[in-house]
Amino acid sequence: MKKLRFYFAMTVAKIAAFGLRMLGRNASYMPGVIALKIAPDFMKYLKKPELLICVTGTNGKTTTSNFITSALRSAGYTVTNNSFGSNVQAGVAAAMLLNSTLSGRHKNRAAVIEVDERSSLKVYPYISPDYIVCNNVMRDSIKRNAHTQFISFILTKAIPESAALILNADDIISCGIAPQCKNRIYFGVDAERPEREEGVKAKDIVYCPHCGGLLEKEYIRYSHIGRVRCSQCGFASPERDFCVTDIDRENETFTVTSEKGSEQFKLVNDNIVNVYNFCGCIALLETIGLKYDDISAAFNSGEIVKTRFIKEKLGDKAELTMILAKGQNPVAVSRVFSYVSKTPGENKCLLLFIDDKADNINNVENTCWLYDLDYEPLKDPSIGKMIFAGKRCLDQRLRCEMTGISPEKTVFVPELKNSSELIDLDKYGDIYILYDNYLMDEAYREEKALKGRCSK
Ligand SMILES: [Zn+2]
Repeated sequence: MKKLRFYFAMTVAKIAAFGLRMLGRNASYMPGVIALKIAPDFMKYLKKPELLICVTGTNGKTTTSNFITSALRSAGYTVTNNSFGSNVQAGVAAAMLLNSTLSGRHKNRAAVIEVDERSSLKVYPYISPDYIVCNNVMRDSIKRNAHTQFISFILTKAIPESAALILNADDIISCGIAPQCKNRIYFGVDAERPEREEGVKAKDIVYCPHCGGLLEKEYIRYSHIGRVRCSQCGFASPERDFCVTDIDRENETFTVTSEKGSEQFKLVNDNIVNVYNFCGCIALLETIGLKYDDISAAFNSGEIVKTRFIKEKLGDKAELTMILAKGQNPVAVSRVFSYVSKTPGENKCLLLFIDDKADNINNVENTCWLYDLDYEPLKDPSIGKMIFAGKRCLDQRLRCEMTGISPEKTVFVPELKNSSELIDLDKYGDIYILYDNYLMDEAYREEKALKGRCSK
């Protein structure tokens, strides 16, 4: 009877997907909602592809799953991927059903599925992945995600014992998830050990999760990413099986060392956050037996997903860089601020769209994350002007004043539209637009306006 319900759900969802496509609409979510409404345990009856990989963690899921997909395709796999769809339960169901036959047999050899941490309990027990990559667990959207301990608990409860885990050894929180899984591969970055800690001052972990002793730091890169050891019981960051041992920014390469030796890859993006993501991809791909040439091909052809990072010329005078700076996510935005301040260039002007548009739809937005966000990098002398646009611009002003950012360098405007007109293109050569993922359209509109001004 239950199986009949599955077939019915599959048929109706496929018809709905067909209809949506005929209307020119996106079918990467709704068919999943329909299937789960008819058969709540729908995913249990889907047959697994030969290789099922899931990617989770607070930051870097899309970049990681795109690189993994690209390498697998280079190695000749046909791959199901939901990176351009939704990563919650219905999005996962939609991606799987659209790539399955009516009887539930998967059409592709592999599936690389991005899974939102909060959806873990509704996904992992049903689809039982072969491998799960977890890049990091950090504070993010506290109204939804509460605390990192809560997220770790959900992951531990949801992940089946049979899954092999690819974990960030330099993140003492994520490397401790799901102890029931005995097959654990660790990756990390040893190159460019920082001399001083920077970024978010608020820490998600300070004491040992086993005995409560103080965690002593060998070094910390940002937030809690680094190497630690418990002062009482000796619990420490695990050894890395795959480790970035060199980052050559000049020649745009990085080296990963494992028991097999050292291998060099193209450095597609030099933000340290992405170096971690890349090493996670390599750890997984080598573990499943992909050849160096196929992994390397993904880096040679790959760019960071276009909605996340774009660098382009603005006429012959200026350069524009657009970077996703996810709202409610203090660690991710702190890393973007730090990256912009460290990127070469003496003459930077920033347009910041980090208003909490999505957060204020059904209730009052929570601005507490701005006090976890590190504004210090914005004091860098290379940044000449910052335009904070959006309804919450006065909250930004308060944070800038608290940080001691010179008032002459800042402008606060409530309207996003036409805010790029405040950029003086004769004065500034390095223009940045930093935008929340819910303000992507508004950011691209200003990008277009800037290009229009430059072509005149
Ligand atoms: Zn301890």
